[in-house]
Formats: sequence, C-alpha cells, structure tokens
Amino acid sequence: MRKYKFEAPQSFEELFEIMHRANFEKDEIKFVAGGTDFVPRLNFELNMIPSEQKQPLQIMYLGCLGIDSIIEKDGIISIGACCKLNDIMKNPVICEKLPVLVETISQMAGLTIRNTGTIGGNIMNASPANDSIPTFIVLDANFILKSEKKERTVKASEFFTGPGKTVAKPDEVLTRIEINLKKGHASFKKLGRRQAETLSVVNAAAYVEQENSVCKTVRVAVGSVGPTVIRCERVEVALRGKKLTEDVIKTASLKVLNEINPIDDLRASAWYRNKTAPVMVSRAIKAAAGIRGE
Ligand SMILES: Cc1cc2nc3c(=O)[nH]c(=O)nc-3n(C[C@H](O)[C@H](O)[C@H](O)COP(=O)(O)OP(=O)(O)OC[C@H]3O[C@@H](n4cnc5c(N)ncnc54)[C@H](O)[C@@H]3O)c2cc1C
Repeated sequence: MRKYKFEAPQSFEELFEIMHRANFEKDEIKFVAGGTDFVPRLNFELNMIPSEQKQPLQIMYLGCLGIDSIIEKDGIISIGACCKLNDIMKNPVICEKLPVLVETISQMAGLTIRNTGTIGGNIMNASPANDSIPTFIVLDANFILKSEKKERTVKASEFFTGPGKTVAKPDEVLTRIEINLKKGHASFKKLGRRQAETLSVVNAAAYVEQENSVCKTVRVAVGSVGPTVIRCERVEVALRGKKLTEDVIKTASLKVLNEINPIDDLRASAWYRNKTAPVMVSRAIKAAAGIRGE
C-alpha cells in the first residue's frame, strides 16, 4: 500500500522547510490546490499502478499560503494562484477591467468544480484543451514561480512544453498571474460537445488593439488542436496593419491550419477540429475587434 503524508503549510518558509525534510530521493512531492484534477488522477493511479512501484507521496496543500487575492496596482492586475475560479468571475476588478476572464471562466466546467478548482491548478494542469491558457496567452500574461531561493517570471506563451508539461521545476510553486492592462479588447470562444460542463473540442482567444480602424496589435491563440495551446503567429501577421473586415478576418483565420496538428480523440476527430478551428479563431477575432455576427 502506498504511503501518503498530507501537509498544509501556513507560509512559504514552512512549505520549503517541509520540502527540505522530505526525502527528495525517495518521496514524491505533489502540490495540491483545489484537487479537482489531482484527486481523479490519484484515484486512477491507485487502481492502475502496482503498489510495489509506488513511492511514498508527500501531498502539499497550497490553500493556506495566502496566495488567493486579486490586486490591481499601477495598471497591473495580479491574481493569486489559489483564487477559486468562481471567486475570479465574481471579483469586481476582474468584471470591470478583464471581462474576457469572466467570459472564459463562465464556460469552464460547472459550478461545483469552479467553487473548488483554482486558476493556478488549471494552469499547472497544462492540458492542451485547457480554457484559461488561450486567454492568458493573448493577454500577454506573466506567470510568477517561487522556489526556496528565487522568484522568476515566465510569459504565458513560453510556459507550456507539452501535454501536462510546463517549464516549472518540481520545487516551484506558481504564486500569481500578472496582467498588464492595455487599451485593446479580448475575447474567448469555446466549442464543446454540449453547451455546458464540457471540455473544449476547439477553443480560441484573441486580443485586438486598433488605431484609426487599423489593426495595430493582435494576438491569437487556439487550444485542443495540438500538444499545447498554440499561439497563431501566421494569423496575427495576416491581420496586422489591415482594416479588420469580415473578409480579411476570414482569410487570416484559415492560416491557423498551418499552425495546428490536431488528433482524433474521444471528443472529436482531427478532421472536425481542422474544420472548426478557423471558425472559432474567426469568431474570437471578430468579437475582439467589435464586429457583430454569428
Ligand atoms: C468535471 C470536470 C470538468 C472540468 N471542466 C474543465 C473545463 O471546462 N475547462 C478547463 O480548462 N478545465 C476543466 N476541468 C479541469 C479542472 O477543473 C481545472 O483544471 C481546475 O481549475 C484545477 O484546479 P485545482 O485547484 O483543482 O487543481 P489541483 O487538482 O489541485 O491541481 C492540478 C495540478 O496543478 C498542480 N498545482 C496546483 N496548484 C499549483 C500551484 N500553485 N503551483 C504549482 N503547481 C500547482 C498540482 O500539483 C496538480 O498537478 C474540469 C475538471 C473536472 C473534474
């Protein structure tokens, strides 16, 4: 039978002290926040992996570290990694200054999961079908990682390396997400097998800043069509410096097909994802550019 040890450190000092005490060689250390991804995975592992192959597991609960507030200072919004998804949606600063995050989270999971799951857990889960990642990429968000010796900042667009994989090291905790508020608009669109409580078949986010009706800055990201969420630079190039008409957006959105590499899975075929990705990208860009329709 695998041995489990559960700790709920009240400060980072205590967290790193416990990590020191734990034997890194023999013990596997796992962080847990809301547990909505972690617990089902543990359950799967309990049934699937023979007990003699299981190392002792040191579970570190992050919910008492005080990284669960939302602060706006000098045009930067800082969201604590342990903020619950529903609390972010209801936060007045987010509602006023980052409505795209409300638009995104309202399409994620259901009430129960959103009441328990955290934004940090969602990011660190690093699923290619994750819904918050496209939005953080187009907002040019920074993720702040803390280890015992240092704190470092990584851009959302450079954070994910594969399914379930990030540049974070095993001893680094994601403490907060920082978003520099800009004057453009962002939008998130999701296609799922049902209207609600479903994972994305394809999702897309876009950020657009226009000057005299010409597209000045644009960022586009698409999810569930490759090993990580993908930043669509060819689509962006096709939009930059242009007046954003329906035709320009439609032509640019087709360039997403040169950037994605979808697979067949339980939720959809690669064929279907290739058909729908340009449509979702186009819808996200149009909404961010303030063009009505669909
Ligand atoms: C029924 C259901 C529906 C779902 N629907 C959606 C959906 O529509 N869209 C979507 O994007 N997701 C969805 N999810 C996924 C899940 O709800 C989210 O990913 C959730 O936000 C995870 O947060 P958590 O706090 O529960 O993470 P946990 O389960 O606690 O942790 C997840 C992972 O992140 C690590 N981790 C957590 N916090 C930190 C931190 N601060 N620093 C370092 N590592 C950390 C943990 O070690 C673990 O590996 C769904 C899940 C379920 C069960």
